[in-house]
Amino acid sequence: MDLGIQGKWALVGGASRGLGWGCARALALEGVNVVMVARRPDVLAQSVQALQAEAGTGVTLIGVAADITTEAGRAAVWGAAGGPGQGFDIVVTNAGGPPPGDFRQWGREQWLQAVEGNMLTPIELIKTTIDGMAERGFGRIINITSSAVKAPIDVLGLSNGARSGLTGFVAGLARSEIATRGVTLNNLLPGKIDTDRIRATLPAMAAKAGKSVDDMRALQQKQIPAGRYGTAEEFGRICAFLCSVHAAYITGQNILADGGAYPGTF
Ligand code: NAP
Repeated sequence: MDLGIQGKWALVGGASRGLGWGCARALALEGVNVVMVARRPDVLAQSVQALQAEAGTGVTLIGVAADITTEAGRAAVWGAAGGPGQGFDIVVTNAGGPPPGDFRQWGREQWLQAVEGNMLTPIELIKTTIDGMAERGFGRIINITSSAVKAPIDVLGLSNGARSGLTGFVAGLARSEIATRGVTLNNLLPGKIDTDRIRATLPAMAAKAGKSVDDMRALQQKQIPAGRYGTAEEFGRICAFLCSVHAAYITGQNILADGGAYPGTF
């Protein structure tokens, strides 16, 4: 299926690894030009180079090494993109998630960081890009959030809280007059997708449960109806479809990519 987005410009946050990389890759393979953002310049440069080799010379990929959750980082992104960001047709908001823990240990500073990274940053990115999309009559905004928005995970209180704030905001904006102007906003909710982040959290979880890392991985996968973790590649392709011309009638939705792990009927 031709997704009909060849030649568009996309901004993808957290794009050197994991879910952001999966989205950047799927878009680039559809002929979309992508500005890829991540903090570590060396890892980002490698990812951009590898993706350029895969996607070919027909697409332009630009790596911007910046912390997208800061004002300075976003200014670097707009600078590299040649303006204030009005030219993007597709924006995938994504960065690292807040740490797990006990809410009794979190102070105002931890909460502000979580809200800054997982609620206000996506809102700032949307604010800067959405009017340009509406003027041109086409826009796709995808926020990578978490299945924890629908089924909260107790130790991820910072994530549950901050991401729910974003979800509420997006639900309203997606249904505003912007819906008549070719712009859709959706949230893509990963369950367990096999990325560095998942691999990094396994040893601590295994130690806590008194299991080996391999046993812990097997146990987690058994609890997912699909019997496995998802892959960044397949997650990216869902994202690319939501960005396509064919997904114009999908807006204001929270779409789970979790192998059936969320147990509810709706
Ligand atoms: P990952 O494999 O660790 O990749 C994160 C990517 O984002 C890297 O490219 C990283 O590069 C970049 N990044 C992190 N913080 C950044 C920042 N402040 N500014 C710019 N780039 C940043 O993580 P992931 O699994 O893809 O997770 C992505 C998001 O989805 C996280 O918010 C996570 O909580 C959420 N999520 C993931 C899963 C899952 O199963 N994987 C499930 C639920 C929710 P640098 O470190 O170099 O910046």
